[in-house]
Amino acid sequence: MRVICPNCSSKDVGKIGTNQYYCWNCFIEMSVSNEQIASVYQVEEDGSLHSLNDLFIEEQTVAAQINM
Ligand SMILES: [Zn+2]
Repeated sequence: MRVICPNCSSKDVGKIGTNQYYCWNCFIEMSVSNEQIASVYQVEEDGSLHSLNDLFIEEQTVAAQINM
């Protein structure tokens, strides 16, 4: 499965966990379920996660950005 970053459209997204992906271009973390991006987080400087779901989770647009 290939994940394209919903923020910057980069393909430079690495898998960091079972359903966790990380964009090396804009430093956001995504969790994926059922082949869709379920959550998007920004990693803060102190390592905490800040949810960006309000910005990015619109089911149709997010689903369209994931290519098998
Ligand atoms: Zn990105």
